[in-house]
Amino acid sequence: MENAVGPSSSPAQAQVAEVWARIRGRLREEVGEAEYRSWLRQMTLAALQGDEVVVLLPTRFLRDWVRGHYGDRLQALWQTEIPAVRRVEFRVMAGAAAQKEAEAEAPQPQPNGHATGLAEPIRPKAEPRNDGRSDWSAPLDPRFTFDTFVVGKPNEFAHACARRVAERPATPGFNPLFLYGGVGLGKTHLMHAIAWAIRERGAQDGRAPLTVAYMSAEKFMYRFIAAIRSGSTIEFKESLRSVDVLLIDDLQFLIGKDNTQEEFFHTFNALVDDGKQIIVSSDKPPSDLAGIEDRLRTRLGQGMVADLHATTYELRISILQAKVQQAGVPVPAKVLEFLAHKITSNVRELEGALNRLIAHANLFGRPVTMESAQEVLRDLLRVLDRRVTVEEIQKRVAEHYNIRFSDMSSPRRARNVARPRQVAMYLAKQLTTRSLPEIGRRFGGRDHTTVMHAVSRVAELMQQDTAFAEDVELLRRMLET
Ligand code: ADP
Ligand code: MG
Repeated sequence: MENAVGPSSSPAQAQVAEVWARIRGRLREEVGEAEYRSWLRQMTLAALQGDEVVVLLPTRFLRDWVRGHYGDRLQALWQTEIPAVRRVEFRVMAGAAAQKEAEAEAPQPQPNGHATGLAEPIRPKAEPRNDGRSDWSAPLDPRFTFDTFVVGKPNEFAHACARRVAERPATPGFNPLFLYGGVGLGKTHLMHAIAWAIRERGAQDGRAPLTVAYMSAEKFMYRFIAAIRSGSTIEFKESLRSVDVLLIDDLQFLIGKDNTQEEFFHTFNALVDDGKQIIVSSDKPPSDLAGIEDRLRTRLGQGMVADLHATTYELRISILQAKVQQAGVPVPAKVLEFLAHKITSNVRELEGALNRLIAHANLFGRPVTMESAQEVLRDLLRVLDRRVTVEEIQKRVAEHYNIRFSDMSSPRRARNVARPRQVAMYLAKQLTTRSLPEIGRRFGGRDHTTVMHAVSRVAELMQQDTAFAEDVELLRRMLET
């Protein structure tokens, strides 16, 4: 049966079913997937009678729990949809079979016979579908929208692509959209923003919204494995292939996971061939995804590839100003400049530091000042001050081996410069959070495989040659203090 209300349902019933699906969707958004599944999924709408709504739950325990924890919220949600509703009544489903039935994924409608305002009890499918979210989607963070995303030089291209895809999904040339960049630079934020925008627009148009599914590559893998275990891979594939917009975050997670990669590749092809939009994020560009099958890598790079660059001072200041405004707590400009100057690694850390200052100010009822900032962030700043840069490493190592600093990025391959360069790459990998491609770029635009080779070569030499090992260790200690 494909219609949840039944083929003989009247338009009014269909409307109530829609309202109910919307309410469930809202609730699910608010409480999150896990909580929804634990407590709320088994709710069944029995009736809307005059000003009273009757909701059934399979056990007494569940009924009490749902009434106690979500009763008021459900009532408020009903009232925003149908102002005439005054009460939501929770009851235990009648009959011994009820519980079993409620546990089944797609319950069958009960026969008629309820003395209610409805010919048949309303039983929407387990998950609402008309709010634009797929069964598979992880919850979206309400803070991650386009409104709260601050645009600057380093992210303007990625942002423009994200906007474009949100406005017109599956435009040729923008499918797939591949977003990449280092940790904490806004990949997840942009993906959620796209998903929100598509869902919201669907609701405004009054048309059936596009179905959007967002999940991490890790979740994708777990779901896939669970489907294999439970023998439901066909359902898994079908339900994934029924979405209009699929967003997969942190794709690098699939490196080396061959079976999952294969499945993703098939899903990917099926969706793109069907005119659906795919959006993928990763910490590396497609070309650097070593360990991802060639044909998948090729397809990933065939749409639009956009990177989020490391932040600039200006962008950091703009982000801080925006966050201060949202928080509504005054923070002196000097403090913002101080933070933007000191915390350069990524937006997440920057945001974290600002939140600490604001929390501290709220807790003690004192304004944020330069002094309090230094005090509250002392431990963080100490760590940051100790963090060396690739450039410092290159300088120290060049000095130590008595070669020119410029040789660190020169194409010269003579042993007397190549070896120190390898040592510097090795130390850069050990002492900084930079990725292999980033390190390669700082050594005259070398490939990440060159860095990888340098790292393993130096480690190998350190095993074989104690004098060399001591040398490298000495350099490391000097750089660390
Ligand atoms: P990533 O997924 O790239 O690791 P996130 O999207 O999780 O990074 O971003 C980390 C944090 O920084 C989030 O709280 C996000 O809202 C914030 N952030 C990142 N970039 C921006 C931006 N341009 N404007 C506002 N907030 C941002
Ligand atoms: Mg992320």
